[in-house]
Amino acid sequence: MMQDPANAVHASQSAQQGEAPAPAIVLEARGLKKTYGSGDRMISVLQDANLSLREGEMVAIVAPSGAGKSTLLHLLAALDTPTSGKVYFASKAIEANQDAAVADFRNRADHRAGELSGGEQQRVAMARALVTGPAVLLADEPTGDLDEQNAWAVFELLERLHRAHRLTSLIATHNTALAARCDRILGLEHGVLRARMAAASRTPGGEAS
Ligand code: ADP
Repeated sequence: MMQDPANAVHASQSAQQGEAPAPAIVLEARGLKKTYGSGDRMISVLQDANLSLREGEMVAIVAPSGAGKSTLLHLLAALDTPTSGKVYFASKAIEANQDAAVADFRNRADHRAGELSGGEQQRVAMARALVTGPAVLLADEPTGDLDEQNAWAVFELLERLHRAHRLTSLIATHNTALAARCDRILGLEHGVLRARMAAASRTPGGEAS
Protein backbone atom coordinates (compact mmCIF):
# COMPACT_ATOMS: atom_id res chain seq x y z
CA MET A 1 0.00 0.00 0.00
CA MET A 2 1.12 3.52 -0.61
CA GLN A 3 2.42 5.33 2.41
CA ASP A 4 0.24 8.23 3.34
CA PRO A 5 2.45 11.03 4.68
CA ALA A 6 -0.49 12.60 6.51
CA ASN A 7 -1.05 9.35 8.40
CA ALA A 8 2.62 9.09 9.24
CA VAL A 9 2.56 12.55 10.80
CA HIS A 10 -0.62 11.74 12.68
CA ALA A 11 0.87 8.49 13.99
CA SER A 12 4.03 10.14 15.27
CA GLN A 13 2.05 12.93 16.95
CA SER A 14 -0.19 10.33 18.57
CA ALA A 15 2.82 8.45 19.87
CA GLN A 16 4.26 11.61 21.39
CA GLN A 17 0.96 12.42 23.04
CA GLY A 18 0.49 8.87 24.25
CA GLU A 19 -2.69 8.34 22.19
CA ALA A 20 -3.56 5.06 20.58
CA PRO A 21 -2.45 5.00 16.94
CA ALA A 22 -5.16 5.34 14.29
CA PRO A 23 -6.68 1.98 13.32
CA ALA A 24 -5.16 0.35 10.25
CA ILE A 25 -6.53 1.06 6.80
CA VAL A 26 -8.37 -2.07 5.67
CA LEU A 27 -9.71 -1.03 2.29
CA GLU A 28 -8.29 1.71 0.15
CA ALA A 29 -9.04 3.13 -3.27
CA ARG A 30 -6.64 5.40 -5.10
CA GLY A 31 -7.48 7.38 -8.20
CA LEU A 32 -10.32 5.17 -9.32
CA LYS A 33 -11.69 5.96 -12.74
CA LYS A 34 -14.46 4.06 -14.43
CA THR A 35 -15.84 4.74 -17.86
CA TYR A 36 -18.43 2.69 -19.66
CA GLY A 37 -18.88 2.44 -23.42
CA SER A 38 -16.74 4.14 -26.02
CA GLY A 39 -16.69 7.02 -28.49
CA ASP A 40 -19.85 9.14 -28.45
CA ARG A 41 -21.44 6.71 -26.06
CA MET A 42 -18.74 6.91 -23.46
CA ILE A 43 -19.92 7.71 -19.97
CA SER A 44 -17.44 8.60 -17.28
CA VAL A 45 -18.86 7.50 -13.91
CA LEU A 46 -15.88 7.70 -11.56
CA GLN A 47 -13.33 10.41 -12.26
CA ASP A 48 -10.90 10.23 -9.36
CA ALA A 49 -12.39 8.38 -6.40
CA ASN A 50 -10.19 8.06 -3.32
CA LEU A 51 -11.13 6.28 -0.14
CA SER A 52 -9.47 4.98 3.00
CA LEU A 53 -11.58 2.80 5.26
CA ARG A 54 -10.06 2.20 8.66
CA GLU A 55 -10.65 -0.91 10.71
CA GLY A 56 -13.94 -0.73 12.58
CA GLU A 57 -15.33 2.27 10.72
CA MET A 58 -18.90 2.39 9.50
CA VAL A 59 -19.07 4.78 6.58
CA ALA A 60 -22.07 5.82 4.48
CA ILE A 61 -22.05 6.93 0.87
CA VAL A 62 -25.01 9.13 0.10
CA ALA A 63 -25.56 10.21 -3.49
CA PRO A 64 -28.42 10.33 -5.95
CA SER A 65 -29.32 7.49 -8.22
CA GLY A 66 -26.92 7.25 -11.12
CA ALA A 67 -24.05 8.94 -9.27
CA GLY A 68 -21.95 5.79 -9.38
CA LYS A 69 -22.39 4.18 -5.96
CA SER A 70 -22.91 0.66 -7.30
CA THR A 71 -20.04 1.10 -9.71
CA LEU A 72 -17.77 2.09 -6.84
CA LEU A 73 -18.89 -0.80 -4.63
CA HIS A 74 -18.35 -3.27 -7.47
CA LEU A 75 -14.82 -2.02 -7.93
CA LEU A 76 -14.13 -2.17 -4.19
CA ALA A 77 -15.47 -5.74 -4.11
CA ALA A 78 -13.27 -6.70 -7.09
CA LEU A 79 -16.36 -7.62 -9.06
CA ASP A 80 -15.29 -5.26 -11.82
CA THR A 81 -12.06 -3.67 -13.01
CA PRO A 82 -11.42 0.07 -12.88
CA THR A 83 -10.48 1.90 -16.06
CA SER A 84 -7.54 3.15 -14.01
CA GLY A 85 -6.59 3.42 -10.37
CA LYS A 86 -6.20 0.74 -7.75
CA VAL A 87 -8.00 -0.91 -4.86
CA TYR A 88 -6.00 -2.21 -1.92
CA PHE A 89 -7.35 -4.73 0.55
CA ALA A 90 -5.28 -5.34 3.67
CA SER A 91 -2.39 -3.52 1.98
CA LYS A 92 -2.47 -5.71 -1.16
CA ALA A 93 -3.50 -4.37 -4.53
CA ILE A 94 -6.41 -6.39 -5.84
CA GLU A 95 -7.05 -6.97 -9.52
CA ALA A 96 -10.43 -8.32 -10.54
CA ASN A 97 -10.26 -11.92 -11.78
CA GLN A 98 -6.52 -12.16 -11.41
CA ASP A 99 -5.12 -13.36 -8.16
CA ALA A 100 -5.89 -15.29 -5.04
CA ALA A 101 -6.48 -12.14 -3.03
CA VAL A 102 -9.55 -11.59 -5.18
CA ALA A 103 -10.88 -15.08 -4.54
CA ASP A 104 -10.47 -14.53 -0.82
CA PHE A 105 -12.00 -11.13 -1.00
CA ARG A 106 -14.94 -12.02 -3.23
CA ASN A 107 -15.65 -15.10 -1.15
CA ARG A 108 -16.82 -12.57 1.49
CA ALA A 109 -18.07 -9.86 -0.82
CA ASP A 110 -20.20 -11.66 -3.44
CA HIS A 111 -23.10 -13.13 -1.58
CA ARG A 112 -26.70 -12.60 -2.51
CA ALA A 113 -29.95 -13.64 -0.98
CA GLY A 114 -32.24 -15.96 -2.87
CA GLU A 115 -35.77 -15.24 -3.90
CA LEU A 116 -37.03 -13.91 -0.60
CA SER A 117 -38.38 -10.42 -0.54
CA GLY A 118 -38.13 -7.22 1.45
CA GLY A 119 -36.64 -7.15 4.93
CA GLU A 120 -36.21 -10.93 5.02
CA GLN A 121 -34.04 -10.87 1.95
CA GLN A 122 -31.87 -8.14 3.38
CA ARG A 123 -31.45 -9.99 6.66
CA VAL A 124 -30.62 -13.25 4.92
CA ALA A 125 -28.12 -11.50 2.67
CA MET A 126 -26.34 -10.09 5.70
CA ALA A 127 -26.40 -13.37 7.59
CA ARG A 128 -25.02 -15.27 4.60
CA ALA A 129 -22.35 -12.70 3.98
CA LEU A 130 -21.25 -13.04 7.57
CA VAL A 131 -20.92 -16.81 7.53
CA THR A 132 -17.40 -16.43 6.19
CA GLY A 133 -16.56 -13.76 8.74
CA PRO A 134 -15.76 -10.84 6.47
CA ALA A 135 -13.48 -8.06 7.53
CA VAL A 136 -15.30 -5.70 5.21
CA LEU A 137 -19.01 -5.37 4.64
CA LEU A 138 -20.05 -3.56 1.47
CA ALA A 139 -23.78 -2.90 1.36
CA ASP A 140 -25.47 -1.43 -1.70
CA GLU A 141 -28.76 0.20 -0.67
CA PRO A 142 -29.40 -2.43 2.02
CA THR A 143 -32.68 -0.78 2.96
CA GLY A 144 -33.54 0.34 -0.56
CA ASP A 145 -37.00 -1.13 -1.10
CA LEU A 146 -38.12 -1.31 2.51
CA ASP A 147 -40.72 0.64 4.41
CA GLU A 148 -39.50 2.81 7.25
CA GLN A 149 -39.97 0.22 9.96
CA ASN A 150 -38.16 -2.53 8.09
CA ALA A 151 -35.45 -0.12 7.00
CA TRP A 152 -34.67 0.71 10.63
CA ALA A 153 -34.80 -2.95 11.64
CA VAL A 154 -32.36 -3.94 8.91
CA PHE A 155 -30.06 -1.04 9.66
CA GLU A 156 -30.04 -1.82 13.37
CA LEU A 157 -29.16 -5.41 12.56
CA LEU A 158 -26.38 -4.15 10.36
CA GLU A 159 -25.07 -1.98 13.18
CA ARG A 160 -25.15 -4.88 15.62
CA LEU A 161 -23.34 -7.16 13.20
CA HIS A 162 -20.83 -4.42 12.47
CA ARG A 163 -19.97 -4.12 16.16
CA ALA A 164 -20.17 -7.79 17.07
CA HIS A 165 -17.94 -8.89 14.18
CA ARG A 166 -15.69 -5.84 14.32
CA LEU A 167 -16.39 -5.15 10.68
CA THR A 168 -15.30 -2.32 8.51
CA SER A 169 -18.47 -1.31 6.71
CA LEU A 170 -19.32 0.84 3.72
CA ILE A 171 -22.98 1.42 3.08
CA ALA A 172 -24.45 3.10 0.03
CA THR A 173 -27.83 4.55 0.89
CA HIS A 174 -30.37 7.18 -0.04
CA ASN A 175 -31.56 7.34 3.53
CA THR A 176 -29.86 10.32 5.16
CA ALA A 177 -31.35 9.55 8.59
CA LEU A 178 -29.71 6.13 8.57
CA ALA A 179 -26.50 7.51 7.11
CA ALA A 180 -26.31 9.98 10.00
CA ARG A 181 -25.81 7.03 12.35
CA CYS A 182 -22.59 6.09 10.60
CA ASP A 183 -19.16 7.35 11.66
CA ARG A 184 -18.71 9.36 8.48
CA ILE A 185 -20.74 10.28 5.44
CA LEU A 186 -19.27 10.58 1.98
CA GLY A 187 -20.93 12.14 -1.01
CA LEU A 188 -20.19 11.04 -4.58
CA GLU A 189 -20.37 13.98 -6.95
CA HIS A 190 -19.06 14.15 -10.47
CA GLY A 191 -17.18 10.92 -9.92
CA VAL A 192 -15.31 12.14 -6.83
CA LEU A 193 -15.84 11.15 -3.18
CA ARG A 194 -16.05 13.98 -0.67
CA ALA A 195 -16.66 14.12 3.05
CA ARG A 196 -20.23 15.38 3.38
CA MET A 197 -20.49 15.71 7.09
CA ALA A 198 -19.43 13.88 10.19
CA ALA A 199 -22.08 12.17 12.26
CA ALA A 200 -22.79 13.69 15.66
CA SER A 201 -20.18 13.17 18.39
CA ARG A 202 -17.58 11.88 15.98
CA THR A 203 -14.40 13.53 14.84
CA PRO A 204 -14.88 15.23 11.47
CA GLY A 205 -13.16 13.25 8.77
CA GLY A 206 -12.21 14.04 5.21
CA GLU A 207 -11.16 11.80 2.42
CA ALA A 208 -7.57 11.85 1.41
CA SER A 209 -7.26 12.56 -2.27
P1 ADP B 1 -25.87 4.41 -8.56
O1 ADP B 1 -25.53 3.12 -7.86
O2 ADP B 1 -25.37 5.62 -7.81
O3 ADP B 1 -27.33 4.53 -8.88
P2 ADP B 1 -24.53 3.27 -10.85
O4 ADP B 1 -23.13 2.96 -10.46
O5 ADP B 1 -25.49 2.12 -10.88
O6 ADP B 1 -25.08 4.45 -9.95
O7 ADP B 1 -24.54 3.92 -12.29
C1 ADP B 1 -23.79 5.09 -12.59
C2 ADP B 1 -23.92 5.40 -14.07
O8 ADP B 1 -23.25 4.41 -14.81
C3 ADP B 1 -25.36 5.41 -14.56
O9 ADP B 1 -25.48 6.45 -15.53
C4 ADP B 1 -25.52 4.05 -15.21
O10 ADP B 1 -26.47 4.09 -16.23
C5 ADP B 1 -24.12 3.81 -15.76
N1 ADP B 1 -23.78 2.38 -15.82
C6 ADP B 1 -23.72 1.53 -14.76
N2 ADP B 1 -23.33 0.30 -15.17
C7 ADP B 1 -23.18 0.38 -16.53
C8 ADP B 1 -22.78 -0.55 -17.52
N3 ADP B 1 -22.48 -1.81 -17.23
N4 ADP B 1 -22.70 -0.10 -18.79
C9 ADP B 1 -22.98 1.18 -19.11
N5 ADP B 1 -23.36 2.11 -18.20
C10 ADP B 1 -23.46 1.73 -16.93
